[in-house]
Amino acid sequence: MASTLTEYLESQENLVREAALALPHQFSQCTYPLGPLRQAVYLCTTCPESRGLCSACSVACHTDHEQIELFPKRNFRCDCPTVSITHGCTLHTKLEEENLQNVYGQNFKGQFCRCGRSYDPKTERETMIQCLSCEDWFHESCCNLRERPSSREPSPDPHSENTGHAEQANEDALSETSSSGLPPPLISGFEYESFVCASCVSKVDILKRWAGTYGVMMVVRNSMTDGWRILGRDSYSEKAVDVEGAAGSAVPGTKRPLSPSGNDVPEAKRARISPSSCLAPTSSSIAQNIYKQDPSTALDPSISLGTGDIFLTDGFRQRWCHCNSCLPSLNANSFLLEEEEVYEPPEDPDSGLSLEELGMRALERIPRDRAIDGIHAFNEMRDDLVKFLRPFAQEGKVVNDADVKDFFASLTEAAKRGRK
Ligand SMILES: [Zn+2]
Ligand SMILES: [Zn+2]
Ligand SMILES: [Zn+2]
Ligand SMILES: [Zn+2]
Ligand SMILES: [Zn+2]
Ligand SMILES: [Zn+2]
Repeated sequence: MASTLTEYLESQENLVREAALALPHQFSQCTYPLGPLRQAVYLCTTCPESRGLCSACSVACHTDHEQIELFPKRNFRCDCPTVSITHGCTLHTKLEEENLQNVYGQNFKGQFCRCGRSYDPKTERETMIQCLSCEDWFHESCCNLRERPSSREPSPDPHSENTGHAEQANEDALSETSSSGLPPPLISGFEYESFVCASCVSKVDILKRWAGTYGVMMVVRNSMTDGWRILGRDSYSEKAVDVEGAAGSAVPGTKRPLSPSGNDVPEAKRARISPSSCLAPTSSSIAQNIYKQDPSTALDPSISLGTGDIFLTDGFRQRWCHCNSCLPSLNANSFLLEEEEVYEPPEDPDSGLSLEELGMRALERIPRDRAIDGIHAFNEMRDDLVKFLRPFAQEGKVVNDADVKDFFASLTEAAKRGRK
């Protein structure tokens, strides 16, 4: 891509601004004193313990360690200052007892999804979706939203004694399936607000009952030879029965489809009424059959009629029936009624710094001996950062915290190697 020097300098200035925006929060306080919170949690893969760090500790205490961001986990208290992690905390220096209330799922072993694959940011081609309930992550292909990209097929290790030719072929395969080259998923991220995995659905009565109805989409097929289709995306079936006056003429005890678009009864009104008869839609028999499948086959996309995962469309929290039989299930799963907040570190008053200042701040977080090396390497780092950010600028992509953290991680990795 040819460009004039002016254009180059301009884009460099933009990159500096983007870099500053990417680090808008201060990372000077561990969240431990705040107690259990729904917060972004980081798994340090350099430290041997399968525990979690708050975002401040991930930056300040485990700066030069390999990490995986697990994103929000509810009721989580930072483990960094506790006896469960031997690497000392630099922010909260009082040694604390083990966090007995924290729940450590498979993500804390670096495993994700129902397939249990590990996550490698360098090779993962697939978008992953977080379950609203268990907060685990799922591959789009494992939810039947797309074919598994071919780069996931067992391929020769590029570092083994391959011939140059084979390596080339492998690289071609990788670039062919890069996210931009993949066909769009069956349900795009814009079409739903939240995702709940099948095993969580099967534990929550109300979700199981609404699965596959309008606004609670499911990916299903009629037979092993049929293609995947989406249940609950179109409202035609509801429209056919949702005749005017139905609300007044409902016979107690009968189920009647509800128009979830809410254009007949205002949502808030419906919620407050607490109807004596249930307003939940008639359950989808296709969906119910999927939950009756042998669980061991249901989750194997190659032999099931659907996984049973659900995709909840915008405003789903306002659409539930609040009758006496539906409400207990909702109350027991409060995330279905109200969106939970994710703790965010306080805004950084210094955000908007120059690239030099950003770099110096990053260096301040690196232990002393590293910092000295780092200062010598600073000009190189600046060049590298610009190089790193350039593709983002060219593709018009937004740089986020994780990207910049990746950059500093690769930098310290390179520094380690450079020091033999
Ligand atoms: Zn912490
Ligand atoms: Zn660590
Ligand atoms: Zn810490
Ligand atoms: Zn998977
Ligand atoms: Zn789940
Ligand atoms: Zn109900």
